[in-house]
Amino acid sequence: MSVNLAAYQSINAAVTAAGATLVAVSKTKPSEDIMALYEQGHRDFGENRVAELVEKHAALPKDIRWHFIGHLQRNKVKDIVSFVHLIHAVDSARLLGEISKRAAAAGRTVDVLLQFHIAAEESKYGLEPTALAELPEILITTPHDNVRIVGVMGMATYTEAEDQVSREFQLLASTFRKLKESFYAEQESFKEISMGMSGDYPLALAAGSTLVRVGSSLFGSRN
Ligand SMILES: *Cc1c(COP(=O)(O)O)cnc(C)c1O
Repeated sequence: MSVNLAAYQSINAAVTAAGATLVAVSKTKPSEDIMALYEQGHRDFGENRVAELVEKHAALPKDIRWHFIGHLQRNKVKDIVSFVHLIHAVDSARLLGEISKRAAAAGRTVDVLLQFHIAAEESKYGLEPTALAELPEILITTPHDNVRIVGVMGMATYTEAEDQVSREFQLLASTFRKLKESFYAEQESFKEISMGMSGDYPLALAAGSTLVRVGSSLFGSRN
């Protein structure tokens, strides 16, 4: 087991003090590692592969809140929709529609975040913050009665340049505020900004993150 409990205590304390929630990113790590944090009282865990999440959900305590943080393929939505706590990375109308359809069939409403592309790196994933004006169209034309959009998610550029990373987090925070004002002013549950990982979570907290997704600092590096 490679869980760093001292790091967990200090990161969790910093995240909690900022009023945010730590999502412990357990992808590729064995159930024993998850249980080590579970026994410390931790309940929020993040995974990015559907098959791995399904397996871990089946094997582990049912009060774990599972966050799906990766790119979700539409044909796999049905595998996690009955139990997932929050889907972090919704970036298309088709995915939104599929989640709603499958959630309805499962008799529940699923919470999701809209993923925005804030990094300088090219990415296939994420809505463009500059295209915010097109979002109403997507949201109105895609039925999503069984989805509750509760905020936004993004990943900063992988760089040592802290000023750049901070700017990108601020862009996500301002995108959140614009959405809040224009659409979700009446929806109290629209309050989440998922940003920050092992290398940049202090900058994310400073920019207003409410959910930080930390893996390697807690569980050690992945292969
Ligand atoms: C793996 C992953 C993380 C955690 O990354 P670390 O650098 O190990 O903390 C956070 N967010 C997403 C979307 C990831 O895929």
